[in-house]
Amino acid sequence: MTKLEVRPEEKTTGDNEDSESVEEQPLDIGEHYLVRRKSDDWHPAEIIQSRFNEQENHYEYYVHYEGYNRRLDEWVPRDRIMNSRFDMSDQQWKNVNVEKGTVDILELTDRKITRNQKRRHDEINHIQKTYAEMDPTTAALEKEHEAITKVKYIDRVQIGVYEIDTWYFSPYPDEYGKASKLWICEYCLKYHKFETSYCMHLNQCKRRQPPGNEIYRKGTLAIWEIDALQHKMYCQNLCLLAKLFLDHKTLYFDVDPFLFYVLCEVDKEGAHIVGYFSKEKDSPDGNNVACILTLPPYQRQGYGKLLIAFSYELSKLEGAVGTPEKPLSDLGKLSYRSYWSWVLLDVLRDFRGSVSIKDLSEMTSITQTDIISTLQSMNMVKYWKGQHVICVTPKLVEEHIRSAQFKRPRLSVDVCQLKWAPRRNKTGKR
Ligand SMILES: [Zn+2]
Repeated sequence: MTKLEVRPEEKTTGDNEDSESVEEQPLDIGEHYLVRRKSDDWHPAEIIQSRFNEQENHYEYYVHYEGYNRRLDEWVPRDRIMNSRFDMSDQQWKNVNVEKGTVDILELTDRKITRNQKRRHDEINHIQKTYAEMDPTTAALEKEHEAITKVKYIDRVQIGVYEIDTWYFSPYPDEYGKASKLWICEYCLKYHKFETSYCMHLNQCKRRQPPGNEIYRKGTLAIWEIDALQHKMYCQNLCLLAKLFLDHKTLYFDVDPFLFYVLCEVDKEGAHIVGYFSKEKDSPDGNNVACILTLPPYQRQGYGKLLIAFSYELSKLEGAVGTPEKPLSDLGKLSYRSYWSWVLLDVLRDFRGSVSIKDLSEMTSITQTDIISTLQSMNMVKYWKGQHVICVTPKLVEEHIRSAQFKRPRLSVDVCQLKWAPRRNKTGKR
């Protein structure tokens, strides 16, 4: 990859002065500049908002990197922004080739890419579509969503021993919502703007685990079931925290109709929150998960799939099939696809004789729709006389199990350690 050299003299749009005089006046909102990303490359970005950082005595800017997912929007100090504006109508930029994590502006002058190449590239790298590329309804909804969530003031949260960079806006109440860092009690999830009040809270807080009932414990892992009616504040705080890492989550305050299942790593200090999922007490759409999240320090270690597996164990005990609420995040989609593939291959591997999609659904509590789409992705289903029919040989199952996509879960649910019985819902069915 070619690094863009800093050559401020190339652009002379007017404000190419020394940094001291620039520092006094904040940059204009809506203008574009080249901004140095964390990966050290320079990328055109729009200035979305500015704020004065009193502790460090300088302005900071909230920027959106053109062509990138808004997850990467961030606050940057002035010294990561070039002095001169960037001309977005520049022909070089129009043909820009956004590589994952870098943009090679210098390389672009003589390189054109076709529409098809761009699409393929964008799909692989999860590049956000422009409004013009979306259908009108999607574009309108996206614009509205972006307007509400545009500026992510809270950059970081301290929770337990972890300081975590946040990904998205979350509607913490006024003064808290504008802070650049929040300190959050890892046990009761109460949030603080200042380290001093947080430390005072830690001395006073008696809680060392989530509220509600511990319904699962295996080794150092434990799961609590929390009824939001009884522990409203905790559940609201959990939703606000989760929103920092989920783009399209909409539930924060009206938590009563939900149960929350919180996974913790337990040591002699207490139960440290790892992740959770929420579930409607009575879902008309048959959803067995509403929202699911593993906190970033614990991601990619098998906890997400453990939570998914746990949600299906609850459905099995309820004698029901379930599916996660849509839309799923990119990370959610990958985890579910991987979980479903593993469960189905595991059943099919040992199965002799004929099995229908309905049988598989009853065994696993996975819906027939999710089973069909998973089997289709593995080329194991045929449409025959108006029905989907499983079409698989032991050899094909073995090939998938040996393939790179197949991953045995690192953590699994030991159902003997699950102390839980389904509650009767309103209609009386179990
Ligand atoms: Zn606390």
